[in-house]
Amino acid sequence: MAQPIQLTAPSQVSYLKPTGLFINNEFVPSISGQTLSTVNPYDESVIDSVASVGSKDIDLAVASARNAFKSEEWQSLAGYDRGFLLTRLADLCHRDKHILATIDAWDNGKPYEQALGEDLAEVISVFRYYGGWPDKIHGQTIPTSEAKLAYTRQEPIGVCGQIIPWNNPVMMAAWKLGPALACGNTVVIKAAKQTPLSIPYLASLIKEAVFPAGVVIVVNGLGATAGAAMASHLDVDKIAFTGSTNTGKAIMKAAASNLKTITLETGGKSPLLVFEDANLGQAVKWSRVGIMSNMGQICTSTSRIYVQEGIYETFVEKFKQYTIENSIVGNQFDPQVNHRPQVSAAQKSRILGYLETAKCEGAQLVLGDDQPSPDDKGYFVKPIIFKDSNRDMTPVREEVFGPFVVTQSFKDQKDAVEKAIDTEYGLGAALFTEIITCAHKVAASIQAGMVWVCTRRYNYSHFAIPFGGYKQSGIGRELGEYALSAYTQVKALHVNLGTWL
Ligand code: ADP
Repeated sequence: MAQPIQLTAPSQVSYLKPTGLFINNEFVPSISGQTLSTVNPYDESVIDSVASVGSKDIDLAVASARNAFKSEEWQSLAGYDRGFLLTRLADLCHRDKHILATIDAWDNGKPYEQALGEDLAEVISVFRYYGGWPDKIHGQTIPTSEAKLAYTRQEPIGVCGQIIPWNNPVMMAAWKLGPALACGNTVVIKAAKQTPLSIPYLASLIKEAVFPAGVVIVVNGLGATAGAAMASHLDVDKIAFTGSTNTGKAIMKAAASNLKTITLETGGKSPLLVFEDANLGQAVKWSRVGIMSNMGQICTSTSRIYVQEGIYETFVEKFKQYTIENSIVGNQFDPQVNHRPQVSAAQKSRILGYLETAKCEGAQLVLGDDQPSPDDKGYFVKPIIFKDSNRDMTPVREEVFGPFVVTQSFKDQKDAVEKAIDTEYGLGAALFTEIITCAHKVAASIQAGMVWVCTRRYNYSHFAIPFGGYKQSGIGRELGEYALSAYTQVKALHVNLGTWL
């Protein structure tokens, strides 16, 4: 068994870091012998390294999850008892919320208060919510004739591979584990290489909650090796993924190996519309939250802002001032600070690349010319706002995933909708108007999985509300009752009540 080691974060919170991969409720060394290290994005110091698994480790992980799926212990566990395991896991996450929030803030760079107040609050709610479902997942009886009893059973899919991103690590794990376990599946889950630390800690809580061995397997590793091995594995029945659209496409291809069921939550280029009658102060406030929260590293970030022409210039000026006043750049553990580093050097240089592209393509830079010098420590990118962008500009079409927003004016409702839907993505959209008929009409016309009317909180999701995208923003829905159908399959039974023929 691999021994845990003590780590102490810059905030002086200490915890015992499990080492190795979590298989059969034990932390064991990897077969691959490879490791990957993770850094604090604030000062680029190395925090620690973790085992990085290869395809042989994935074979072992999947075999263990398969055995657990077939086991009497898991198969015969009543729904109510499965639910109790999830609510006990929620309680343990509540007990250790400061540790989990510290870990995610440390290796992701996200604000600690946000990790605690938003991400961990959601993790606990999601596990509690799905803890209430297992004894309520049932089929139907279907009237056909006196000679036949027809009914359906909602059965688990089997072994699920779950691949999560780095922007909200433990929260993304909860979104995926909650419904999968509620429905009676077993899971192999892999964290992203940038944020490998919180998921093994969650694994130790899964063990403490007394889930049967092998029901949840936790690994770390690279997408191209460990992730690809999971996506193509012939004994994985379902793959659930959150991340970029290109990776989603690669996973979809790999999942074709055995026609896996898939759930994909991919990229976005979500619009935010401000109509002339809107409450301008509220629109400005939520426009900043919509793109600058988590330093723009949210798939639902509202990264294209369209404002009705009569108030466009006023809006841009107010938005700029509000963003300057409310973006205090610094350390993720300092509560006075609200703009922390990006997750990695690669993300920082990608965002700054888009800054240059937008300038070259003729957009007008309103805010963001004072970026830190390349020699400064930390992966900081200050808020970037462009005006007078147009549909042909690269950063209007592509997801930047940073504190980077393009703005443009629109004439009327028709023009607003046309501009909003002129994208290959369809994750979210926000709109600000005080006219109720405009709000409902525009919301219905926008091709997106979620529309926020007169709001754009960071906490853009709720455990009971379906989350997912249209077009290239994904396939399927997470959260709420909808996620249950992503983790079950229907068996139809035909029972002869008539005479033998
Ligand atoms: P980003 O580009 O922002 O790093 P990705 O979409 O590449 O985000 O990564 C999200 C998750 O997908 C991570 O856990 C990563 O390891 C995984 N991943 C990346 N490439 C692949 C792949 N080819 N197959 C399976 N998983 C992958």
